[in-house]
Amino acid sequence: VSKLQPLDRVVALADAGQRSFGENYPQDLRDRAAALADRGLDWHAIGPLQRNKVKYVARAASWFHALDRLEVAVELGSRRVNDPIRCFVEVNVAGEATKHGVAPAEVGRLCDAVRAVPGIALVGLMGMPPIPDDPGWTMEASRVHFRALAALARSLGLSELSMGTTGDFPVAVEEGATWVRVGRLLFGDR
Ligand SMILES: *Cc1c(COP(=O)(O)O)cnc(C)c1O
Repeated sequence: VSKLQPLDRVVALADAGQRSFGENYPQDLRDRAAALADRGLDWHAIGPLQRNKVKYVARAASWFHALDRLEVAVELGSRRVNDPIRCFVEVNVAGEATKHGVAPAEVGRLCDAVRAVPGIALVGLMGMPPIPDDPGWTMEASRVHFRALAALARSLGLSELSMGTTGDFPVAVEEGATWVRVGRLLFGDR
């Protein structure tokens, strides 16, 4: 996850062999994908997306991890009918009022609707448990959320799981993550 990191650090990681990069902000994704277009990188859009910024993701990303509305899927898919973009539905795993994502009870319905959208290849679920600024917190607290997300994905026949950040990715991997979204560990603090 290269969001908010200076471009020279992204270049350094690309030079070291890293091929997949994740960006939160659609304009940053557009600019970086353009700046590094000759390097054969694979771009992941991982942040919330408004309809008016869909075009940037449609042009630059191979993957979108934060789908939580059908209207965005329709808009995005309409620009990718000949080259479907792989998408994760984002689940609000801990039911936090401030987080993006769909409530677990709504996920099945959204996935059914998204599966019918041309240009979208629904591949999995994404979730991000809370990591409180609390000295007593350990990554074990994320396990129950990752496990529930994995069970939900299985029940929907989805094979990819985007879960785990710098703070809790080892537990996410144990629970079946197929993509981890690690930023600070690789790049240093933002
Ligand atoms: C910032 C961010 C990450 C990476 O977090 P780190 O703590 O830097 O590993 C992963 N996923 C999303 C959606 C993010 O916004």
